[in-house]
Amino acid sequence: MFFPFHHGPVRVGLVLATVLNTVMRTVILTMVLFVVASLPLAIAKDGNYKGPVFDTHLHYSKQAWPVYSPKDVLEKMDRANVKSALVSSTPDSGTADLLAIAPQRLVPGLRPYRTPSEKVRWYKSQNLVTYSKARLKTLRHRAFGEVILWFARDLETPQMSQYFDLAAEQKLVMHLHTSSRVIEALFKKRPGLKVLWAHAGFDEPPEVIARMLDQYPNLSAELSYRAEHIMGGDDVEPEWKELLIRHANRFSVGSDTWENDRWSIYKYLIDQHREWLGKLPHKVAQKIAYENARTLLPE
Ligand SMILES: [Zn+2]
Repeated sequence: MFFPFHHGPVRVGLVLATVLNTVMRTVILTMVLFVVASLPLAIAKDGNYKGPVFDTHLHYSKQAWPVYSPKDVLEKMDRANVKSALVSSTPDSGTADLLAIAPQRLVPGLRPYRTPSEKVRWYKSQNLVTYSKARLKTLRHRAFGEVILWFARDLETPQMSQYFDLAAEQKLVMHLHTSSRVIEALFKKRPGLKVLWAHAGFDEPPEVIARMLDQYPNLSAELSYRAEHIMGGDDVEPEWKELLIRHANRFSVGSDTWENDRWSIYKYLIDQHREWLGKLPHKVAQKIAYENARTLLPE
């Protein structure tokens, strides 16, 4: 075994030099990694879609409050040319705080969770039905969600029946992060409900999304977390291009600011969408960027 301090001052000097060398190399490597990590944040501007955007997946949840004030959020939207947004928060008072300073730009959705941990039990908790009913009296919510549903059997609880009734009575769009299988089960039970499919199913392929949109006229899909699937390299993937053009009235875009890291790159998240939107026919891009969401969520 090597014990450096047994070899006198020369050896100590050498060890110090080695340590300093390692520190310098780490600093330089960190700087290089930082620069490389920043590169994708600058998306080529030429050809990007430049019109107004309706962000249909915004959250202003508790962990964002100490870092970004409602005014900061509005400034971020301005910088990204996001004219309107569907916002839902954990807890719902975050949405109320945003709405207080920009009622004309924001459409509130009701999330039935007061804390992040409630996302695994909201569909079977009577307390959260009570909370939801109380919150629905406080703001002009137009959507229910975004909520996560993992299994079709989760639709069968007595609490879900009450949520469906609330959505039907108050004409709330169900904003659901779930699979095609759960959406199918939902429309079998409640074909009259309107559903905004969060992330277009997250990992469902274009052919499944196409089949779902063909089959269910009350289904729309938003494309947060999907820009990287849509843009394969320098152009829109052909299956996506065909899907987006064929169902040009059924898609919208979103950022999904569920954690502060996503707030810190908000403009980049919107620019990612602008990149692929810029490669579609202009009329189609206008619909997906803004008009479809406005139709689904009128002022
Ligand atoms: Zn979300």
